[in-house]
Amino acid sequence: MAKLIKKFSRIAIANRGEVAVRIIKACEELGIETVLLHSEVDINSRAYRMATKTVCIGPAPTAESYLNIQANIDGALGAGAQAIHPGFGFLSENADFAEAVEKAGLTFIGPSAEAIRSLGDKVHCKELAKKAGLPLVPGYQGENQAVNNLIQEAERIGYPVIVKAAAGGGGRGMKLIKSSAEAAELIESAQREAQSAFGSPKVFLEKYLDRAKHIEFQIFGDSTGHVVHFFDRECSVQRRHQKIIEEATSPSLTDELRRKMGEAACAIATLGKYKGAGTVEFLLQDGEFYLLEVNTRLQVEHPVTEEVLGVDLVKMQILTAQGEFLHDPTHVRIPRGHSIECRIYAENPFMGGVPSTGLLGHVEWPEGPGRRYEYGFDSGDTITPFYDPMIAKVIVWDENRPRAIQKMIRVLKDSVVFGVHTNIPYLIEILSHKEFVMGTMTTRFIETYFADPIKEPEMTDVEKKIAAEAMVQLRGGAKATGGVTPVTNSPWASFWRGI
Ligand code: ADP
Repeated sequence: MAKLIKKFSRIAIANRGEVAVRIIKACEELGIETVLLHSEVDINSRAYRMATKTVCIGPAPTAESYLNIQANIDGALGAGAQAIHPGFGFLSENADFAEAVEKAGLTFIGPSAEAIRSLGDKVHCKELAKKAGLPLVPGYQGENQAVNNLIQEAERIGYPVIVKAAAGGGGRGMKLIKSSAEAAELIESAQREAQSAFGSPKVFLEKYLDRAKHIEFQIFGDSTGHVVHFFDRECSVQRRHQKIIEEATSPSLTDELRRKMGEAACAIATLGKYKGAGTVEFLLQDGEFYLLEVNTRLQVEHPVTEEVLGVDLVKMQILTAQGEFLHDPTHVRIPRGHSIECRIYAENPFMGGVPSTGLLGHVEWPEGPGRRYEYGFDSGDTITPFYDPMIAKVIVWDENRPRAIQKMIRVLKDSVVFGVHTNIPYLIEILSHKEFVMGTMTTRFIETYFADPIKEPEMTDVEKKIAAEAMVQLRGGAKATGGVTPVTNSPWASFWRGI
């Protein structure tokens, strides 16, 4: 039976920042209008200026705006949208939201609520993975949540063991138990934190793999539910379990491993009746791979896949939701060259990454071949303390990995962000590290080599003089006369350039 194709003329975006801009661009190319569902503080942003319509859905705290299911649905309906794109984070993996959107007569641009429940829930997903014969990290995902039972299970698995919130995500709600002496305390605190952060105290245990790489496969289910994979990404460069640098494809996979992992990724997604874009995450250690979880949404790092395969995953998501996207079985996709993404955080790299907020001054992303910038804020916009500090993503493509690394370092050195501190100097050091260059880094790379804040570079006398003069000009005062203004007055303390 032929599937019904529904054409959207207006899509609402339940998100903010750079991903909202990314979705607006895809919609514009498809000739679809957009409605930005935003919080009160997000009126100073590119997405706000770019969207066809904007609807304020509540104040800054996420629980009152971006995580408020009804406010998002009311906003979309009121503005005449036919569908909602959830982006990533916020409500993107919330099955209740997907269900409520559909009940309201709108289309959720993503997998069905049923698929989110079976694959997005870490514990359910492992059950399904067992059925599909996928290798899992040894662990315990049972219902018996008594602390004594969990300790016994941890002993059985063998330390070190990681305890995770069943409903957790984004690298939060995880604790590493190194020995039985600390097991009870860490399990109890994990349960407490899981309850307060995710609304459920349920935890599960996994053997901690201490020299693993994070490798994930982009999967995509078309409008008929036919799932294929769009190859792999390596995301081993992580700080506190959160990715900082991602690349496609992984420098660590043999053809044989890539084939096996790709097949495993498609098998579980097919079993979960997956439609649209998703990611199957694995840990790889000593040549063996283990399923970590499935993310039932677009991933932050999707651009590196787009760059090596020449696809537009966001447009494909929209076309799939319209019922018209089908994989072409005669089209063999082969990754071309290498792509790297760096997440740009508004934080102070010289003070251990403390968030940096305020008014953005001059911002410049240097144009050139094989360079792509995904950003949510321009000069004059304010970076507020309410949300994730990721303000932009820099993506490069080149013919091979060494050249892509070289290009990324150059691009980061030439990028200009005044007004807030960013992690750019930190990224440059990481990209230049021998282990990263060799591609042998594991998920412990950052804690091993970059545990301490990086050292702030000393200014030369000439730089100090320029800075002092700039400060005087900024204050509208007379020109500095020769002497150097004390460092405490230096504009470099508040206005900073990524070199
Ligand atoms: P989240 O959903 O919060 O992102 P994941 O389960 O995807 O959590 O894990 C995030 C990261 O934490 C992984 O990429 C890896 O670096 C680390 N991690 C998770 N589980 C393990 C494990 N069993 N052994 C070693 N590292 C792990």
